[in-house]
Parts: sequence; C-alpha cells; structure tokens
Amino acid sequence: MPEADKTAIFEHLESEVRSYSRGWPATFTTASGSWIRDENGREYLDFFAGAGALNYGHNNPILKKALVDYIVGDGITHGLDMNTVAKRELLETIQHNILEPRNLDYKVQFPGPTGTNAVEAALKLARKVTGRESIINFTNAFHGMTLGALSVTGNSMKRAGAGVPLVHATPMPFDNYFGGVTEDFQWFERVLDDSGSGLNRPAAVIVETVQGEGGVNVARAEWLRALADLCARREILLIVDDVQMGCGRTGPFFSFEIAGIQPDIVTLSKSIGGYGLPMALTMFKRELDVWGPGEHNGTFRGNNPAFVTATAAIQEYWGAGSTLPEETLAKGETISNAFTKLADKFDGVSTRGRGLVQGLVFDDAENAGKVCKLAFDEGLLAETSGPSDEVVKLLPPLTVTNDELDQGLRILTSATEKVCS
Ligand SMILES: *Cc1c(COP(=O)(O)O)cnc(C)c1O
Repeated sequence: MPEADKTAIFEHLESEVRSYSRGWPATFTTASGSWIRDENGREYLDFFAGAGALNYGHNNPILKKALVDYIVGDGITHGLDMNTVAKRELLETIQHNILEPRNLDYKVQFPGPTGTNAVEAALKLARKVTGRESIINFTNAFHGMTLGALSVTGNSMKRAGAGVPLVHATPMPFDNYFGGVTEDFQWFERVLDDSGSGLNRPAAVIVETVQGEGGVNVARAEWLRALADLCARREILLIVDDVQMGCGRTGPFFSFEIAGIQPDIVTLSKSIGGYGLPMALTMFKRELDVWGPGEHNGTFRGNNPAFVTATAAIQEYWGAGSTLPEETLAKGETISNAFTKLADKFDGVSTRGRGLVQGLVFDDAENAGKVCKLAFDEGLLAETSGPSDEVVKLLPPLTVTNDELDQGLRILTSATEKVCS
C-alpha cells in the first residue's frame, strides 16, 4: 500500500478533533514495555506512555496473564455496579495494599471509567456535602473535558470548546506563579476574608500536585501543606486530582504523600487500571459519603477486566517492601541530570519535574515542538505541554529500564542540541 493510502481513511472519516496522530504520523500496531511499533516495523521508545495511563508499560506480561486468564474463564466483563468477585478482590487489595498502610480511611466510588468522570463525581460530592457551589482551582490546571471539569481547567483553547459559560470556579495562583515574589496564598486568604471581594465561600479546592498538562509545574511539599491547612481552617474540602500523578508517577503511590497531607477527596484514573484499560476511582473520607443510591451513576462503571489488571498491578508493584518508588525517583534523577546539562548549556532552557514526570522548558515555545518532532524522527515519542506547548514532557513507563532511559535521553539530547545550536 502506498504511504498516503495508509492514512487516507483517518483523514477522510475521522474528525478533525484528532490530535496525537498529527504529531506522530505513524500507524501503530503492536507494543510491549517501553516500545511501540508501527505497521512498517519501525520501533519507537514510548516516553509518553498513554499520557501516563501506562505506568507499567505496554502489555505488561504479569497484567496480561491475569487479563487473559480472566477472559478465557468467562469472567464478567460488564458489571455496572453489581458485586463481582473481580471487584471484591480489587477493593480488598486497595484496602490492604494502599489505604491501610497509609492510614487512609477512604471510601471508594467507581464513577464512569475516565479521569473527567472521577473529577465530576468529586465536584458534585463536594457541593452536596457543603451545600456550596463555588470551587477554587489553580492557574494552568487541567482536570478534564466535561463541563464541570472544564470549568476548573485553565487552558483557554480547551475552555472555549465548551460553548457555554463555565461558571462556579475561581482560579488562584499555583505554587511559584509569581516566581516567589508574592507570599503563598496571600491573595486567596485576602479574598476569603473580604466580604466585598465577590468570592462566594467555596465548597472545595481542587489541585494537582504536579500539573502535567499545565507544563510540569511542581508544587512544593510545604505549599501543599499550607494549602491543606488553609482548607482545614476554613472548612473547605481539599480535592487532589491524582489522575495523572497518582499510581507512582512521582514516586509514592499517591503524589500527595510527600507533603504528609490527607486530602478529603482524591481522584485516580489513567494508570489505576494498570493495563491501559478504562477505569477511574473517586475516593473520599468516610464521613463525606453522603451519596444516595444511584445518585451518580454510569453504564461503564463496572469494567471488570480493568479491575482484574488493577488488582494484579497493585499486588505486583505496591505490596509491602515495594521498591518501585525508589526506582522511580532514581530514574527521575537520571532524566533531571540529563536535562540540567542541557539547561546549563543553552540559554532559554530550563528543567523541572518530580519522579518520572520531567519537563524540559523552552523560553522559545516553538523549540519544544521542534525537539519532539526530531525525537519522533529518531524513534522516540514525547509530547509537549504547557499553555504555549513550551515544555517537552517526559512520562516514560515506570518500568523503563536504565538502558532504555539512556537511549531515549541520547535522542532528546541530540534533538535539543540540533534545535538550540
Ligand atoms: C488526564 C487528566 C484528566 C482527565 O482524564 P480523562 O481520562 O482524559 O478524562 C483529569 N485530571 C488530570 C490531572 C489529568 O491528567
């Protein structure tokens, strides 16, 4: 087939809304671990990892075995919120491996199987619990594409897609928004206290500990602690959206663990299913469980094959004595060191990140796109993020080997040198 024919149907039939396929004009067929292959047999190192949905790599053999056994045994595939053995095993595993060791007395809600569903459930619950409407979000936040989640998202292009007013949300400056010049939460506390500020008393604050889509903006542990304190003092619920940074992306299972805080509500999706299968969770403190039966539901909440791979992933990677967090931090350090060298060498280049989410930031935003394009030509998938797409964002699978990491970093280093010299 001539190359042009291979993509003709995508261009003819698939909506213009498609995006990743434009930056990576290949047609992919198979994948394993950190590698993805196209139909011409070309191999690419995947340092995008499903936008963080593939923390354990493509077709992880341990998870694949659990999934295949389950399917071959005619295990329940679609279960709504019926009790199933797969769901029982998942809940027991979450309780035993995740919640109990961290002293978290959370209840677990299964919303529809995407991150934005988990956020919608969190916002609705916060409003129902407090009887208040307004939500505080942060500059450059990303929480999803449905209207509630979009209302607390920063990106103006994505917001414009709503086509209706996005209301009941007020943005506050994220950590370091003013480059350390303004004291943290000065503005937030001021408008909370000032009866003339126009800010309605908020139901909740929603925050990412590291803003993935927003440009790899890292909140310091002390900033997160101060935020949690402020919320507790003012009886505002704290929602941590851990859809992208949870499941070990920054090291610990929950990204907020480094701050020693216990959010009121936590959202998880992306890598919680483990295998890249759709799944999401909204977790909250036991006393916040004011839902009535069926008050927030959805047809695909019971994606049991994802429960099976989620259970296998948590048992394999998040048992007692797991070394995954340390390995993630060490690999993150390797990326950070390579990026620091580039930042030292070239003006207008800097770096930031935590664990295995690392960003290479270009003052000249176009350069980030150029680096990603060159990297793709050399066989590496990496995406840009940030309000102007000025950040090359690396999200390799947590299971990436040191050799693969070195190989990917060589490609990125040479791409950056070409673009910046
Ligand atoms: C990806 C993401 C979402 C949305 O998840 P979808 O599955 O795309 O709906 C929400 N919050 C954060 C922090 C995300 O990274």
